[in-house]
Amino acid sequence: MREKVILVCTKCLSRNYTVTKKQGDDKRIEVMKYCPHCNCRTLHKETR
Ligand SMILES: [Zn+2]
Repeated sequence: MREKVILVCTKCLSRNYTVTKKQGDDKRIEVMKYCPHCNCRTLHKETR
């Protein structure tokens, strides 16, 4: 089973991406991704 998580921009808090991660992985995902609201690459973190 895979767990679906949402990635939110840490600047404007908009939910831009959904990703799936392996179950049992406790690490919080933090990735640099493009945000259409900020119009640049920002840090996105997983939320639930
Ligand atoms: Zn943003």
